Amino acid sequence: MNYIWASGTDTGLVRDGNEDMVFPPTAGASRGPVLVGVADGMGGHVAGEVASRVAMEAAVAAPPEADETPVSRVRKANEAVLAAGEERPELRGMGTTMTLGRFGHDGVLDIGHVGDSRAYLLRDGDLELLTTDHTVVEELVGLGHLSRDAAFSHPKRHLLTRSLGLGPVEVDAVNLEVVPGDRVMMCSDGLTDMVEEMTIRRILAESPDPEAAVWGLIEAANAAGGVDNVSVVVVDVAP
Ligand code: MG
Repeated sequence: MNYIWASGTDTGLVRDGNEDMVFPPTAGASRGPVLVGVADGMGGHVAGEVASRVAMEAAVAAPPEADETPVSRVRKANEAVLAAGEERPELRGMGTTMTLGRFGHDGVLDIGHVGDSRAYLLRDGDLELLTTDHTVVEELVGLGHLSRDAAFSHPKRHLLTRSLGLGPVEVDAVNLEVVPGDRVMMCSDGLTDMVEEMTIRRILAESPDPEAAVWGLIEAANAAGGVDNVSVVVVDVAP
């Protein structure tokens, strides 16, 4: 398998700083294994920026070929954010989401996931959401109390039920096999809050390469108002 990726992050049009982190920070290609991920930090002042950076650094500290699952990496990220909060009391209470994927040379994609950043798969023109948001609103949708359309604009859609940095955390595991022609996208909620899935699908399907897809999506989020930081990583699977 050959993986070709690009990533981008943007402050958006409203926020003063960017509390998102994306990995890898630059485009590239490899036969795998490849680590990719997004983290969306939260907390006052600089705390959100510290949380997502500390978390991502811990998650990717071991090289991609290390015998360590994304779930285990996300747990280590959680411990790192907690430890940083212990050391610097002014940062206590900071948190972050994390969606981290590892593409194996055999075509297996393993994902560890906490929070409301997302992973999507574009296959044969169809867009599939691979992760579940850990939000109060998503729980209401799951229970049938709220429609998915109503959830998109719900005023409390940002309330997380799980994040890194608060204590012990349950990490979701997603595992699938990718095939040549697949395009995988991970993003922070700055994209999915602003841009409907049908538009995300269209941009992903129409962009000729990962770089064009990343910046097409970021531009769409900003064109829709850009109220949050937005981060996107796109990985194309080739033979
Ligand atoms: Mg966000």
